[in-house]
Amino acid sequence: MDRTPTFAGDPEGVLRAVFGYTGFRPLQREVIERVAGGGDAFVLMPTGGGKSLCYQIPALLRAGTAVVVSPLISLMKDQVDALRANGVAAERYDSSLEAGAARRVLARLHAGELDLLYVSPERLMTETFLERLRPLDVALFAIDEAHCVSQWGHDFRPEYVALGRLRPLFPGVPVLALTATADETTRADVRERLGLAGAPLFAAGFDRPNIRYTVVEKSRPAEQLLTFLRSRSGDSGIVYCLTRRRTEEVAARLVAEGIAAAAYHAGLPPERRTEVQDAFLRDELQVVVATVAFGMGIDKPDVRFVVHHDMPKSLEGYYQESGRAGRDGMPAEALLLFGLQDVVMARRLVETGSDREQVRIELHKLGAMVAFAESQGCRRRALLGYFGEALERDCGNCDVCLEPPERYDGTEDAQKLLSCVYRVGQRFGARHVADVLRGADVARIRELGHDRLSTYGIGKDRSADGWMAIARQLVHLGFLRQDIANYSVLELAPAAWEVLRGERRVELAVWRPRRRADGGKRPRLTADGRAVDEALFGQLRALRKRLADEQGVPAYVVFSDATLAAMAALRPQTREELRRVSGVGDTKLVRYGEAFLAVLVRA
Ligand code: ADP
Ligand code: ZN
Repeated sequence: MDRTPTFAGDPEGVLRAVFGYTGFRPLQREVIERVAGGGDAFVLMPTGGGKSLCYQIPALLRAGTAVVVSPLISLMKDQVDALRANGVAAERYDSSLEAGAARRVLARLHAGELDLLYVSPERLMTETFLERLRPLDVALFAIDEAHCVSQWGHDFRPEYVALGRLRPLFPGVPVLALTATADETTRADVRERLGLAGAPLFAAGFDRPNIRYTVVEKSRPAEQLLTFLRSRSGDSGIVYCLTRRRTEEVAARLVAEGIAAAAYHAGLPPERRTEVQDAFLRDELQVVVATVAFGMGIDKPDVRFVVHHDMPKSLEGYYQESGRAGRDGMPAEALLLFGLQDVVMARRLVETGSDREQVRIELHKLGAMVAFAESQGCRRRALLGYFGEALERDCGNCDVCLEPPERYDGTEDAQKLLSCVYRVGQRFGARHVADVLRGADVARIRELGHDRLSTYGIGKDRSADGWMAIARQLVHLGFLRQDIANYSVLELAPAAWEVLRGERRVELAVWRPRRRADGGKRPRLTADGRAVDEALFGQLRALRKRLADEQGVPAYVVFSDATLAAMAALRPQTREELRRVSGVGDTKLVRYGEAFLAVLVRA
């Protein structure tokens, strides 16, 4: 039995030699040191935070084989491919292996040849497999996507429950659980169920600074989407829709316009879903138009944009889906097409629920989603604030920060609107209040006698939409309360009286619906902000595709976009220079160095 670690030396040495990276991301080093030293850990990092290295490096530093549990076969396959490309001895053991291959994997395991073994939870937790492991040197257990163990979470997998036995069964072996789950209840439950209640928590913040958030008012979404995609040809992305039918309509329309797109949803036959997923990984499809069924099985790090064609039902969902963009840390876009019609539809859907408590919770979540979309302040602050993380200042990388709305003294407008809310008895929604202010001549207003109120017709200078936008701002600023569980009736908050009494001024944003979805394409930059030569980048990409196809692996397994961008910016001319590019480790230098240098030297 091999008792010596494959790679002697410090975590930094492994990071550089094997993965070719120059520095750790936040918390990686802390987790690696803890686990390499034999301790358990619970790791909470956003998507793209770099969770994999947290167990891959300790796996190489410790003696024996690291056992990694992952929920999806496709994820295991990609991870194993990526590790092998870096020269690491990795295998997977799951139900998709044919008998001969499975035997070979087990033989390598018993011979102590493997640094990492990826196993599906149902395979791992059989008595026979556990018996196999007992006499072997297990370096550590890593439980990826650990939230799958909790019924509170969004991805509960019954086969994960048995993993709770690992901790007591292997007392000397460190157990490490990793997740990107934002929600507190789920996290506590996961720790409990995995027997890791006492393990230290390593929690990185939820911010994804490389993602630019943009919200535009939805009008003619098909054209808005096309404009956006045309300015991003060559980049991979996902378009999320709320219904299966819509994914197919949108995909068909994109295909008709010459864009390599396909629909993906749970109603498609499994073979078709695999086909779409593979084509996307291989960069043969530029865009996948999908329901939320698409995503978890996708570890593609170079997704450059995520578009929400329809508004998701919660900010948790929005954060998770938009978070699939830019895992490689390169600039990425999250675009939300926001239409009030979607809000009405979503609300109707939620309200059909029979469990009143559940309906109340879901309406609250929907309300938070709408508030984000309508925010007149920094989007990132709104988003992180929802997850309880305060950002010190505006982010500078969202539509509101980049094109701040003009502000004006809106005290008088606020007074008009607030007093109108009061006059109609705090029993009506924004639409009705806007109609009264505008002096609308409609039967309902006359029937209610609201045409005789002192506020009737005092706001003819603005459109109804304009008044509704002011009402929403007053909600966000805390002057009005909107009871979303009760027909969105507007009520005055205590602070409203200070405004009505003239004791407090109110600053409002000039209402200006944004319709342009392209947002201006940004020049391609490296992770550290250098300009990238697009033509050279394209050539490197073509070479990468050819090599990946020859080896039957996804393109990013050869090199990530981040690495290609750095090559195109730095233009290394020798092996030594190429070796200094982030993402070029010892093995890849040997394997791909010549081919890439040939392109770089010619450029
Ligand atoms: P997660 O599982 O947390 O979503 P991954 O482990 O897949 O994230 O890492 C996301 C991307 O970032 C991968 O392409 C990975 O190679 C890269 N990465 C991780 N750590 C580093 C680092 N220290 N330096 C540079 N790139 C890194
Ligand atoms: Zn911002």
